[in-house]
Amino acid sequence: MVHGFVLRAFNRGQNGCLVFKRLYSWTEQSFPKITTHYTVHPREKDPRWEGVDMERAVDEVDVVIVGGGPAGMSAAIRLKQLAALHEKEMRICVVEKAAEIGGHTLSGACLELGPLNELIPDWKERGAPLHTPVTEDKFALLTENYRIPLPILPGMPMHNHGNMIVRLGHFVQWLGSQAEELGVEIHPGIAASEILYHEDGSVKGIATNDVGIAKDGSPKDTFARGMELHAKCTIFAEGCHGHLAKMLYKKFNLRTECEPQTYAIGLKELWEIDPAKHHPGRIEHTVGWPLERTTYGGSFLYHVTDERYEVVPTCGIYLA
Ligand SMILES: Cc1cc2nc3c(=O)[nH]c(=O)nc-3n(C[C@H](O)[C@H](O)[C@H](O)COP(=O)(O)OP(=O)(O)OC[C@H]3O[C@@H](n4cnc5c(N)ncnc54)[C@H](O)[C@@H]3O)c2cc1C
Repeated sequence: MVHGFVLRAFNRGQNGCLVFKRLYSWTEQSFPKITTHYTVHPREKDPRWEGVDMERAVDEVDVVIVGGGPAGMSAAIRLKQLAALHEKEMRICVVEKAAEIGGHTLSGACLELGPLNELIPDWKERGAPLHTPVTEDKFALLTENYRIPLPILPGMPMHNHGNMIVRLGHFVQWLGSQAEELGVEIHPGIAASEILYHEDGSVKGIATNDVGIAKDGSPKDTFARGMELHAKCTIFAEGCHGHLAKMLYKKFNLRTECEPQTYAIGLKELWEIDPAKHHPGRIEHTVGWPLERTTYGGSFLYHVTDERYEVVPTCGIYLA
């Protein structure tokens, strides 16, 4: 048995479901603190923070966007386009926690071109890294011993002809360069760590992360306070399960009238394979084995043309 672990089921939730409460009676040694973050362990009550200068520099922009993934970058580009259309000066600022734009974007993806054609119609001339149109779709049900091909008809979600196989990280990097060209201020390597509110409770902007904090949550000699970015509009584009978004759900009860969110785990691998088995433009999806019938999931395999590797297929499994 895991040391000191007790699982007790009690309490009926609002919807009559059993609510499971995990009670851990751990020792510091066997289970070190999961987080020392100040949102969980307030610094005001921590003597190690006494006398540390907590003043933050403030900058005022028109729009601050948290997260420079496909959504954040597209929003920044569109806003700049609209500002130019209406001859308005607009400061738009994107903070992205990855060291470089696209650095946290791992998915090999099949990209539907409609939205991109609307956003940047001349993407080809601008050198968008879209090199592999889908030419062949395959879909199969796997059992432990067999592969049963399933038909894909036009109109079905699995029918990907006309879409592009991309390495999304490269694509997002390119979106970043387009945004920068339009004058968007992009700050990679900086995470938004706090939401700031006006006195009336509306969102005022964000604060970026402090640096120079030891693992135990104490300030190091190199401690430097983050900065505040105040904006007329703050867009949260952190991707799924963003930690600031979760705070907003709670504060503004954004989850009360909706279906519960479900999540999937995707495992991605890049394989270099025998050129004879490489078919650029082929997409393969499977359902079934190794998952049992009651588990939602499957796998995909995209044959990508890559500048460095001749072949970069990707495969993943989704579980919900
Ligand atoms: C394995 C896999 C395969 C996929 N395949 C496809 C596909 O074939 N076709 C398709 O259309 N979609 C696919 N998707 C989904 C697609 O990748 C997402 O829908 C898309 O990336 C969502 O974009 P986003 O900008 O909302 O979020 P994300 O791409 O998650 O970007 C969020 C960004 O915000 C940054 N960030 C988060 N929190 C903070 C913070 N506090 N401060 C600063 N920065 C922050 C992150 O570093 C990240 O760069 C796939 C996803 C996975 C995981």
